[in-house]
Amino acid sequence: MKPDLFESPDYYNIDDLLTDEHKLVRSAARDWVKREVSPIIEEAAQKAEFPKQIIGGLAEIGAFGPYIPEEYGGAGLDQISYGLIMQEIERGDSGVRSTASVQSSLVMYPIYKFGSEEQRKKYLPKLASGEFMGCFGLTEPDHGSNPGGMVTNFKDAGDHYILNGAKMWISNSPFADIAVVWAKSEEGRIHGLIVERGMEGFSTPETHNKWSLRASATGELIFDNVKVPKENLLPNKSGLGAPLMCLDSARFGIAWGAIGAAMDCYDTALRYAKERKQFGKPIGAFQLQQKKLAEMITEITKAQLLAWRLGNLRNEGKATSAQISMAKRNNVDMALKIARDARQILGGMGITGEYSIMRHMMNLESVVTYEGTHDIHLLITGLDITGLNAFK
Ligand SMILES: Cc1cc2nc3c(=O)[nH]c(=O)nc-3n(C[C@H](O)[C@H](O)[C@H](O)COP(=O)(O)OP(=O)(O)OC[C@H]3O[C@@H](n4cnc5c(N)ncnc54)[C@H](O)[C@@H]3O)c2cc1C
Repeated sequence: MKPDLFESPDYYNIDDLLTDEHKLVRSAARDWVKREVSPIIEEAAQKAEFPKQIIGGLAEIGAFGPYIPEEYGGAGLDQISYGLIMQEIERGDSGVRSTASVQSSLVMYPIYKFGSEEQRKKYLPKLASGEFMGCFGLTEPDHGSNPGGMVTNFKDAGDHYILNGAKMWISNSPFADIAVVWAKSEEGRIHGLIVERGMEGFSTPETHNKWSLRASATGELIFDNVKVPKENLLPNKSGLGAPLMCLDSARFGIAWGAIGAAMDCYDTALRYAKERKQFGKPIGAFQLQQKKLAEMITEITKAQLLAWRLGNLRNEGKATSAQISMAKRNNVDMALKIARDARQILGGMGITGEYSIMRHMMNLESVVTYEGTHDIHLLITGLDITGLNAFK
């Protein structure tokens, strides 16, 4: 793969809207990605392996629990810093960002928000340091966009619960030490349970042959009469709203992360368009290529402003789920379109692993599907503005 020459576009001086702390956090993440991710990511993706050697570095740049208070091992940062870290990591690779998102927003967040003090103390510091890796089990083979229909369930068996069922498409599952699993009680209410690797009847087979997020491990979670201690149930919230709150936090990170992937594609295509000559001049001098590049920087700038505003709303505790949903949908769609156009600007070179664009493009096909598909997010906005439910 070519050396990482990335230069971040900032067409509207959005840096002026950031604090010194935001810029410091971003620059630490950016430098780390250039140093530790860019040189190895293409090979990891080609081999379809999650590069475990970067776990320590992810922890050091604050990617595990950026907004979790420091007393639990988190970085204690605000939402914009969290977003910027996700942006920088996804500039390197969406699969690596997925690992960080799951650890922070889908594992640490529910334990912090809905867990007991004992659970927080037991798990959060280890998750923040990367000593423990976690995964989040919501999706099932027959329940993706409609997780409320889940059939995974647990029964009271005296001093423990018995958990049965299966989850599918679970990021980090093949190597996770713990899983936050959403399952129905005998009364049909959804609860979160912390399931630990090694519990009898619990297995995590890997999903192979993905063309997308190849540097992120994906798998199943299978529960065959797993005995889960009662103290592993998250006590402070139940119902579908609990996992949906986790998704809000992860979707917010994705809205920022997608900007990173888009910026990398744009920056690569811009540099290539200025260097590559055909018909005696740089291809960037042709109007058709300029149109693509001009539209890219316009869309990136709009997405940056949307994410920045949403970050402020989150900092003030005012962002609605529907607002987060809109940013996730818009920014991922924007990044996917930019990746496709950028790939065309590189011609044949665009399909090779010499450049990051094709990897970003394939990764984004998962990002546009997970954490609520593009269609589902359209329905969320539709419901929000009309008050009419078009889901069923
Ligand atoms: C690489 C990867 C990693 C993932 N990681 C995780 C994870 O860590 N944890 C986890 O729990 N899940 C994870 N997922 C699962 C992901 O969230 C689901 O794939 C997603 O929610 C969609 O579910 P589905 O694939 O079953 O598609 P379906 O729900 O079957 O949808 C298929 C199509 O139908 C459309 N559709 C569905 N309902 C409607 C409707 N009401 N109206 C109109 N159209 C509709 C969808 O938009 C989609 O186009 C991951 C997925 C992938 C691909």
